[in-house]
Amino acid sequence: MEPQQRSPLLEVRGNVELKRPLVKAPSRLPLPGTRFKRGPDRMEDALEPEKKRTRGLDTVTKIATSHPRPPALTVRPQTQSQTTAPKVPKKTGPRCSTTIGTVLKKQKPDPAVPAQKPGAAPPTLGGKKPTKRPAWDLKGQLCDLNAELKCCRERTQTLNQENQQLQDQLKEAQQQARVLGAECRTLEGELARVQAQAEQGQQELGNLRARVLELEEQLGTQQGLVQELQKEQVGLQEERRGLAARLEEQERRLQASEVALSGSQAEVASLRQEAATQATLLVAQGERLHGLEMERRRLHNQLQELKGNIRVFCRVRPVLPGEPTPSPGFLLFPSGPGGSSDTPTRLSISRSDERRGTLSGTPAPTTRHDFSFDRVFPPGSGQDQVFEEIAMLVQSALDGYPVCIFAYGQTGSGKTFTMEGGPGGEPQVEGLIPRALRHLFSVAQELGGQGWTYSFVASYVEIYNETVRDLLATGTRKGQGSECEIRRAGPGSEELTVTNARYVPVSCEKEVEALLQLARQNRAVARTSQNERSSRSHSVFQLQISGEHAGRGLQCAAPLSLVDLAGSERLDPGLALGPGERERLRETQAINSSLSTLGLVIMALSNKESHVPYRNSKLTYLLQNSLGGSAKMLMFVNISPLEENVSESLNSLRFASKVNQCVIGTAQANRK
Ligand code: ADP
Ligand code: MG
Repeated sequence: MEPQQRSPLLEVRGNVELKRPLVKAPSRLPLPGTRFKRGPDRMEDALEPEKKRTRGLDTVTKIATSHPRPPALTVRPQTQSQTTAPKVPKKTGPRCSTTIGTVLKKQKPDPAVPAQKPGAAPPTLGGKKPTKRPAWDLKGQLCDLNAELKCCRERTQTLNQENQQLQDQLKEAQQQARVLGAECRTLEGELARVQAQAEQGQQELGNLRARVLELEEQLGTQQGLVQELQKEQVGLQEERRGLAARLEEQERRLQASEVALSGSQAEVASLRQEAATQATLLVAQGERLHGLEMERRRLHNQLQELKGNIRVFCRVRPVLPGEPTPSPGFLLFPSGPGGSSDTPTRLSISRSDERRGTLSGTPAPTTRHDFSFDRVFPPGSGQDQVFEEIAMLVQSALDGYPVCIFAYGQTGSGKTFTMEGGPGGEPQVEGLIPRALRHLFSVAQELGGQGWTYSFVASYVEIYNETVRDLLATGTRKGQGSECEIRRAGPGSEELTVTNARYVPVSCEKEVEALLQLARQNRAVARTSQNERSSRSHSVFQLQISGEHAGRGLQCAAPLSLVDLAGSERLDPGLALGPGERERLRETQAINSSLSTLGLVIMALSNKESHVPYRNSKLTYLLQNSLGGSAKMLMFVNISPLEENVSESLNSLRFASKVNQCVIGTAQANRK
């Protein structure tokens, strides 16, 4: 890596390099050598007179040979230099000793020097050495010796001074040596520290190298990453370009959308205005609609009244497989004045008077019985055609008019088929009850749009031998036929209720179908010689309809009663009266009584008699609110197409004709 940062080791090295000169550098103190270097010069200077004297001493030295003396001067400097040798640089020693040695060499007596005269200095002639004094010249010799002594004294003094100086220098040098020693120790300490630092530096360097390796490794990884990132960046840039293009496209679209939005907003504003206008109009239309609805109800009722508050429809069932085909002309359905396009209202039955024919021996004459009703349904008429005719009547129940529909006729004439439907429960054979309820639910939903809310509560009872039983009983009471009583709902109330009977709220066809299924299971199935017990009882399905228009505070309520009457056939007087027949006789009497009471009630209502004998039978008592002034009544007279049933058919048709002649007073809607 770039050594921008100076590593600690290098710093240490720098320090070491910086310190080295300190060690090597000459001491600031004047080294003894320098002095000694200069020493010889000085000594030269100091010895200069000695040299000069030495020349004079040559003779003396020769004399001294005979009196040898210890060379005190030569030994002392050597001793000095030896004692100071460890502290004084050696360099100075030899030079000093050399110098002194030289001096001492020169002090050796020269045997060639001639003796001089006593008392005078040996003469020098032409550079020749002074002559040696003769042995007799003691005075001269004494004189020479004195001079020499003097000279020696002077020299001793000088040497003492020099010695002193040298000792001073030695002390100074020792001082310097001590200082240098201390400095040396300091430097050694420093060196040790520096070495420690260097070691530490080395360690750090090692660490740093390891770190460098690690970092290099990381760098490699990072570089790999960088390359990957660069690749990624390239990819992202491409993506970004794509996104930018898309963004541009979106922005273009947004702009277009904004333009469209502003257009739409303007449109919305105008639509809102229009909606406000429409809302105002709607309120007005609602008002109008309500007025029209009330008018419709009024007109509908008028129409029903014109059709008659008591209507009688005759339905002839088809000949069933296995039944004998009736002779042609037995049953006829003559057309009305409008021809075959008119709705059939007429029925003719031709009956041969067999008794008269037998007596005269001629073919029995036939008597034609003509009947006219509000509507006649020939054998081929479907359930839907039948319901079509009564749909408007059923709707009257929603408008608040009690409606009661009976099925009258002998056993096997098709009453149950008309009211409940045929076997198998297929849609085309569905009877009036499921169709009427489906129609009511659908119309109630439509009226819901006008602010009406409707609720429906169903009950289904059976009246057998003047006892009432609930056909919707469940649980332990199921099929047991525990007796029920018809009571007023409350004191002073005109509403009737059947005690112990279930009143089940219904809101859809499935619920109604479940109830009809339950009723079928519950219906008594005690067989008689003629038919099962169900044919010997009246089945009364009642639907309490309640409507409310909360916005206008309007309420209406009316019952819709759909009654499958017991077989109207009379007991054959030719039958033997066994124990079972007695029971059946009682049944028949009860049925006949209740049916005739029904006829009487209708007559009394028609004749506007003050007393209407509702209480004479359980049936009329239960149905009293569905009959009378404000009620609309429809009676189906069901006819068997078989010739063998002609007598019962004529009875039924006669009863129905009587009812058909009745007109019950103007119906009043039960409005509150
Ligand atoms: P009731 O209830 O008067 O005793 P049912 O309704 O039980 O008579 O009818 C007797 C038989 O005739 C049944 O098998 C029924 O399916 C059949 N039936 C009655 N009316 C029709 C009709 N309009 N079309 C076809 N079959 C009918
Ligand atoms: Mg029946």
